[in-house]
Amino acid sequence: MSSPARTALFAEWDRCRWVWNECVAKSKAVHARNRNRPGGEDKRTCGPAQLDRMLTEARTNMTWLREGSSVPQQQTIRDFGKSRAKAQKDIKDRLPLWQCAGMPRYKKKREADPTLNYTKRGCRLKDGRLHLAGGIVVTVVWSRPLSAEPSSVRVYRDSLGHWYASFVVPAEVQPLPATGAVIGVDWGVKETATTTSDAYDLPHAGYGREAQTKLSRYGRMMARRKPAKGQAASKGYREAKKLRAKAYKKAARQRQDTGRTWAKKVVTDHDAIAVEDFRPKFLAKTTMARKAADAAIGATKRALLEVGRKHARDVRLVHPAHTTMDCASCGARTKHALPLSERTYTCTACGAVSPRDKNSARVMLVRAGLHPAGVEGVRPPGAPLQEAA
Ligand SMILES: [Zn+2]
Repeated sequence: MSSPARTALFAEWDRCRWVWNECVAKSKAVHARNRNRPGGEDKRTCGPAQLDRMLTEARTNMTWLREGSSVPQQQTIRDFGKSRAKAQKDIKDRLPLWQCAGMPRYKKKREADPTLNYTKRGCRLKDGRLHLAGGIVVTVVWSRPLSAEPSSVRVYRDSLGHWYASFVVPAEVQPLPATGAVIGVDWGVKETATTTSDAYDLPHAGYGREAQTKLSRYGRMMARRKPAKGQAASKGYREAKKLRAKAYKKAARQRQDTGRTWAKKVVTDHDAIAVEDFRPKFLAKTTMARKAADAAIGATKRALLEVGRKHARDVRLVHPAHTTMDCASCGARTKHALPLSERTYTCTACGAVSPRDKNSARVMLVRAGLHPAGVEGVRPPGAPLQEAA
C-alpha cells in the first residue's frame, strides 16, 4: 500500500475511533443515569437517532472530524449499535454470563487494530483499484474474484500489521439433493462437536504440539521483555509479540480448515441441522486449553452456519440453557446441572441412560422441533421433516 494511503487510512481510523469512544461514553452515561433514578427510567435514551444527532453536531463543531469522510463515521455508529444490541439481547435472553457478548468498550489507540467500514456509496472499484470516500485509493491484491457487485467493504489491519479489504457480496446459493436425514450437534471441550450420529463427531484438536510450544515460548519471551509501567515497549518485546500473533494466526487458520471440512460433510449428508447456539467468550480469564476449545467451537460453528446457508440447508440454532439437564427421551429436567466429571446422563424420570454429550445432542434435535426418529435412519428423500410433539 502506498504511504499516503496508509497515512490517510490511519487518520480516518483516528476519527472513527473517536466516534466509537464517544458512543461508548454517551451510552454509559445514559445507563448510569437510568440506574440511579429512583422514580423509574429516564425518558432520554441513547438510541441510533440520538447517536446520529451526536455525530452531526460533532461534525459541525469540529473541523478535524469534518475533514474525514462521513461514510465510515456513520458506519461506526451502526457497528456500535449492532454490538450494543447483541450484548443487550444476550442479557435479555439470560445467557450465562460467560457466554454473553460484553457491552462495547473503549478502543485504545495502542491496542485497537484499525477497521473502517464503507457502504456502497463510499466505495468504488475501478481498474482493480479500490476508491474510498475521502479520496483514498488503494491497490487490491485479489485472493479470489468477486462473484457479484460488492454492497460494502471493510478495510482493516490485523495484529501482524497487514492490511486487508473484505468485500460483502450477496451469497450464491447452491442447493444440494435431499437426504432425508437430520442431525443434532452439541459443542464441548473434549470433543468440539458431539452429534447424534457417531460418524460426525469432531474431536478437539487443541493447538497442536508444535503451535502450543511456540505459543508458550513467545509468551514467556514477552513476559521477560515486558516494558516497565510508563515505558515504551522495547524492540525485542514487539518482536516477541509479533511472533506470538503469527503463531496464533496459524492455529486459527488450521481451526478454520478443520471446521470447514467437517461442516461440508455434515451439510452434505443432512437436510436439517440442530445446533447449540454457543457463544464463546475469548476474553474471559480462563486456561489456555479452554480458550483453544472455545476458539475451535467458534470457528466450527461459524463454518457450519456459512456452509449451511450456502447450500440452503435448514440450520436451527438452539438456546444453550439447560441442554445438559434435560432428558432427550422424556423431556424431564434434572434439578441440578451435572458436574462436568459426570460423563453419563441418567434420567430419574424415565430411566434412560446415555452418554452425557450424546443426550445433549439429542436435546438439540428435540428443541429445534426435529424428530429424533430421523436420526441415523434414512427417510425417503423429499419426505417432510416431522415436527416433534
Ligand atoms: Zn427421561
